[in-house]
Amino acid sequence: MKEIILLKEGELALKGLNRVNFEDKLIKNIKFRFRDLGKFTFTRSQSALAIEAESEDVDFEEAVERLKKVFGIVAFSRAAIAEKDIESIKATAKEYLHEQIVAAKTFKVEAKRSDKKFSMTSPEISREVGAHILRNYPHIKVDVHNPDLKITVEIRERAYVRGNQIKGIGGMPVGSAGKAAVLMSGGIDSPVAAYMMAKRGVQLTAIHFAAPPYTSMKAEMKVRDLVKKVSEYAGRIYFAVVPFTEIQEKIKDECPEDLFTLIMRRLMMEIATRIAEKDECHALITGESLGQVASQTLLALGVTDEATPLPVFRPCIGMDKQEIISIARQIDTFETSILPYEDCCTVFTPRHPRTRPTLEQVREAQALVDWEELMEKAIAETRYEPIN
Ligand code: ATP
Ligand code: MG
Repeated sequence: MKEIILLKEGELALKGLNRVNFEDKLIKNIKFRFRDLGKFTFTRSQSALAIEAESEDVDFEEAVERLKKVFGIVAFSRAAIAEKDIESIKATAKEYLHEQIVAAKTFKVEAKRSDKKFSMTSPEISREVGAHILRNYPHIKVDVHNPDLKITVEIRERAYVRGNQIKGIGGMPVGSAGKAAVLMSGGIDSPVAAYMMAKRGVQLTAIHFAAPPYTSMKAEMKVRDLVKKVSEYAGRIYFAVVPFTEIQEKIKDECPEDLFTLIMRRLMMEIATRIAEKDECHALITGESLGQVASQTLLALGVTDEATPLPVFRPCIGMDKQEIISIARQIDTFETSILPYEDCCTVFTPRHPRTRPTLEQVREAQALVDWEELMEKAIAETRYEPIN
């Protein structure tokens, strides 16, 4: 039986005037996600987008699973194509929806006839198909108001039969909101922050600061794995690994201990800004959450922000750890995040970090060293890799 995927108006998170641009991005993203599954045809009409596999050997189930992770889709349907006659439509409904019918206690049939040459009216089609289901499945009853299963029959250029809609993930198509760079540690929060911004249509570049030999290759691979998990939703992500060891050692040797973390965070922001600008990113993203640690008090965040001219987005800022964890589980990053590899932040954690720093103090302490050459070197030695 030939099956297709239908995305209908209302199932897309459309944005007024940007609709065409939005649809273009969405189709491009779906094509990218399906690129290793075989050839698909995309047909746009006034009110729907139909996706059809060009050959039999395409893994349709996998395509459906992947679509559930594409931002910009509120819901979608899979539909079987029937011959344009009522006997074929009835048989298709029974065969194609068998499992859904068996699982449902109540159902209704809704027919939509846009091809007026078809000999029966919509109510007639609904009645015939409904009667056929009732005859074949004694357990099921009709409920026109709130059925477990809604069978839709559509007569257009072809006849389609579909069951209940499948829930999409919502959000906006990645790329429709521009590009931003996410500072990715190996922790729980930053992958969640990355995911949340991608959900609003932001295309991501991921920047990770590594401090070998204090941090291991395993720690870096863990971050890479996290980027890969996020890319299942966010599409291709450029992953930049910045060698940060020399800078961290310099901080440790030359700066007051209670300001280590803040100076480090400011230097991360500065380097990230330069990488972001090279990559045409217009904002930075971090996984910070207010009050979670000493470097995430209001004052500390202000001091961090001052190190970059770019807006810094922190989608986890108002979330409790449990809320962040629940998203991390949902996007399957949690188990990876809690693997016990050291992060560059934990290696040089001060014993008594400042929670109420003034910008003056931090600037003064940071000015003890000329960072320019070290930062340039770190940027020059940054490794880039496209993930996904
Ligand atoms: P996470 O769970 O994301 O690691 P966290 O609560 O552990 O966050 P910190 O370690 O203070 O917080 O880091 C705050 C934010 O700074 C992180 O969310 C991340 O955006 C960024 N960050 C920290 N360490 C690194 C790193 N090694 N490379 C890139 N970004 C980092
Ligand atoms: Mg961390």
